[in-house]
Amino acid sequence: MNRVIRTVKGDIPPEELGYCQCHEHLFIAKGISGEKVPSLIMEDVNKTTNELLMYHYCGGSAVVDAQPVGCGRMVKELRLASELSGVHVVASTGFHKLDFYNLDHFVYRLDKEQLTKLFTDELTIGMYTDKVNGNEVPSIGSSYKAGIIKCASDGRDIRLTEDNLPIYKKLFAAAGRAAKVANAPVMTHLEMGKGADSQLEVLTAQGITPDRIIMSHLDRIVNDSVLEYQLSVAKSGVYLQFDTIGRLKYHDDASEAKLIAFLCEKGFSDRILLGLDTTNERMKSYGGPIGLDYIFNSFQSELRNYGIEDDLIHQFTVINPMHALSMET
Ligand SMILES: [Zn+2]
Repeated sequence: MNRVIRTVKGDIPPEELGYCQCHEHLFIAKGISGEKVPSLIMEDVNKTTNELLMYHYCGGSAVVDAQPVGCGRMVKELRLASELSGVHVVASTGFHKLDFYNLDHFVYRLDKEQLTKLFTDELTIGMYTDKVNGNEVPSIGSSYKAGIIKCASDGRDIRLTEDNLPIYKKLFAAAGRAAKVANAPVMTHLEMGKGADSQLEVLTAQGITPDRIIMSHLDRIVNDSVLEYQLSVAKSGVYLQFDTIGRLKYHDDASEAKLIAFLCEKGFSDRILLGLDTTNERMKSYGGPIGLDYIFNSFQSELRNYGIEDDLIHQFTVINPMHALSMET
């Protein structure tokens, strides 16, 4: 078995990944997500490349793009921006929140086996480049492979049967199965940090272990009332993708750094990943104030205020991503 990280430019040895922010958005094409949340639209190769060049200049070596197939993902642009900037990009197959799809979208119509095949093909053969927000099943292939399976739910327990929860359960089961078949990592979206238990149960029922799963946004809410829950998710063995950094409408960065320091004290420093979950309102090249370089230029000093020194920052941004994103071929 050979361990690699699968980028849009091809497989690389895990040691080549370097500094990586594991939940970002580099491009999202116009479509339902952008109609609902205009800040999600990012379609400009020059702007995104400039953002990546700035990130590279600060020491950034790799990024995970968290936009999945059929939901505005822009495969060719990801590859081009990666080539132009020299930054490794790990792209996503999988699915997003159902809020971002019309009711006739293929995520509703395909069964678990068909979805498993779609996700597995994107990881092992190549990603589809057509119908970025389409209702039809994509058919125009490329040789650029996805390196991770994105999954999202709406914060509720996906084992329940009300509303559209059975659709979520089907989608998560297909993602877990594809992860098992392709030996690939999974990255989930926790709506406002909620719903980790049922996501974990449905994914691991397909035969993958918790260390193949990255859960994003557990840090959306940071206060004492959710601390026990956050600790229980950390104890489950999944990777924790903390990306509510510089998002002051949720909480300040000091609260974020304090939570990370607390989890390190409890022994979970080998589970933590960092990112910014970027939109056009935050990336500097699109006119925003934060920038992909924000962790380098601002958040690292906040971490140091809470006793987190360079060795741990290296762990969160180099060592942990290298393990979390690797897949066996
Ligand atoms: Zn995201």
